[in-house]
Amino acid sequence: MGMRERRTDVEITPLPGGITRINEYDFVNCFFVEGSERACLIDAGAGVADVAAIVKTLTDKPVTVLITHAHADHVGGAVWFKEAYIHPADEKTGYFYMTWHQRLYFLHSHEYKRKSHSVSYGAAFQRNYRTKLKPITEGDAIDLGGRKIEVFFTPGHTKGGLSFRDTRTGALFTGDNVNPMVTLQFPFADTVRGWLHSAEKTLALAGDAPIYGGHGDGVINRADLETTVGWAKELVAAGNRKPNKTAVKRGDEKYPCIVYKTGKVE
Ligand SMILES: [Zn+2]
Ligand SMILES: [Zn+2]
Repeated sequence: MGMRERRTDVEITPLPGGITRINEYDFVNCFFVEGSERACLIDAGAGVADVAAIVKTLTDKPVTVLITHAHADHVGGAVWFKEAYIHPADEKTGYFYMTWHQRLYFLHSHEYKRKSHSVSYGAAFQRNYRTKLKPITEGDAIDLGGRKIEVFFTPGHTKGGLSFRDTRTGALFTGDNVNPMVTLQFPFADTVRGWLHSAEKTLALAGDAPIYGGHGDGVINRADLETTVGWAKELVAAGNRKPNKTAVKRGDEKYPCIVYKTGKVE
């Protein structure tokens, strides 16, 4: 019998400009950016893989952990670090989604990916956190040496959503806020109007530079985002209708789309 090949749950992909994409079991993207003095990790994954150990294979420098928003698949991996930075409006939710039971629930809700990547439920129990979430907001910047990471407040997908811009490449890291499927139906999401403001800001901040997102191949298509921005304008013009009814706005294809609560447009 030959050796059985063991699938890893993490894929590491170099991107232009000294940026590395870390993809946790084909589900969520984290981004690693290194300067001459320190490095940063933008989003930490679901915390099932030991992302801190993975980052140590990429650098010896100190690492600052920045979280775009407080969903389990982005903040969960902060359990592997002493501290992580998040917007104050997402802090309480962040602590909740770092708990082992939320990470376990997350694994359960993505059962097929758990199986295809040979991830055991035990993985969610491997760590109970002592991580301190620290506040960060627009106007802050992290100096990595030779490049800075600028912080921008972009609520929508959550009320405390942040985007981060790398001054060397201009690349903008947006978490889930401007993904092809814009999701504003979850608890703690902002209104469509709130999202629209952030999405227009995102387009302006990125200019011609890449926009990176938390799922899929991690590259946000600017034309798709312009389409969803147009739809958000239509929705805001139509105003609030029935409360708490989830609706989807899209063209003929599945993506792009906006999933939102009809009572939370304005
Ligand atoms: Zn999310
Ligand atoms: Zn996500």
